[in-house]
Amino acid sequence: MEYKPHTIGVLTSGGDAPGMNAALRAVTRAAISNDIKVKAIYRGYKGLIDGEVKEFTTQDVSGIIPRGGTIIKSARCPEFTTAEGRKQAYETLVREQIDALIVIGGDGTFTGARIFAQEFNIPVIGIPATIDNDLWGTDATIGYDTSLSTIMECIDKLRDTATSHERVFLVEVMGRDAGWIALHSAIAGGADVCLIPEIPYDIEKVREKIEARYTNRRGFCNIVIAEGAKPIGGEVVGKASTEVGYQHIRLGGVAEKLAADLKNIGVEHDIRYTLLGHLQRGGSPTASDRILASRMGAAAVDALLEGQRNVMVGLKNNEIVYIPFTKAIKDDKPLDKDTVRAQEILAS
Ligand code: ADP
Repeated sequence: MEYKPHTIGVLTSGGDAPGMNAALRAVTRAAISNDIKVKAIYRGYKGLIDGEVKEFTTQDVSGIIPRGGTIIKSARCPEFTTAEGRKQAYETLVREQIDALIVIGGDGTFTGARIFAQEFNIPVIGIPATIDNDLWGTDATIGYDTSLSTIMECIDKLRDTATSHERVFLVEVMGRDAGWIALHSAIAGGADVCLIPEIPYDIEKVREKIEARYTNRRGFCNIVIAEGAKPIGGEVVGKASTEVGYQHIRLGGVAEKLAADLKNIGVEHDIRYTLLGHLQRGGSPTASDRILASRMGAAAVDALLEGQRNVMVGLKNNEIVYIPFTKAIKDDKPLDKDTVRAQEILAS
């Protein structure tokens, strides 16, 4: 079924991710080359409600490929979870003559998009941009590769201090309830232990591993811990998502708790912890993220022209696929078993 929108609205929403600008550039240029107008909506769903809209030309997206973050800003918008908020958002679309929407963001963004699309019967296409890589149906999300490289560099630097001072270093990384970022950065950074939400950890085993590193004369230990990691039988002390999914509250670091717990069970080595925090989200996107964002941005416009609606653009075996929002959001994306095993083997 072919379809040609008159004007596409494009927004970036939720947590920023490196490569969002590259995706915005691709959407803008692909649309204009198909004689479709593009209107950028500032500050995600907030700008949709408030009517912060500007028509974009190819010039508006010139030179933004190397820039991290998003030039059209991002925001979290609790109003969009209410029917009244979404009605106001729809009124903006009507006023601006926007008849299709491309949203660049993560699972919260797509949850909102799915509801909005159904309520007002408007075609919406999602582009996955999140450093968490936690969306089902796509091998990669925009920003993930850049974030991994940043974390890897940090682990490399911390190793210098860990070896010089013979310390145990705990590095807490993001990822919400998913261990993707922790697992892959631990492998890339050659960490000695990796603790992920999918596999609750046994603190005794962590202690044994640390002691083994000192008795075999390595004399230091680098541990990567995901913010959603928890001990066997324990609660998550890190980031908690609220039910509506639009607000994320930091409750305190899991690395800090693990450091205290290790001391409490008698580990005598000098233990330090580092929270990488928002450093993991910034920076110029890697080549891989720029290419992914460019392909996905162009594919989002293709999707609209093909008559697709309410789907997320994904990448499977290096081919573009379209995944219904419902699947992308609801289904868990399991870690590859071989990667988990490789990490365990390589760290031993
Ligand atoms: P991300 O897209 O990175 O996962 P958030 O979870 O913060 O980021 O979601 C971004 C925005 O999506 C929220 O600020 C809110 O406006 C919208 N959103 C999230 N969940 C819902 C929901 N259940 N209903 C409607 N809108 C939602």
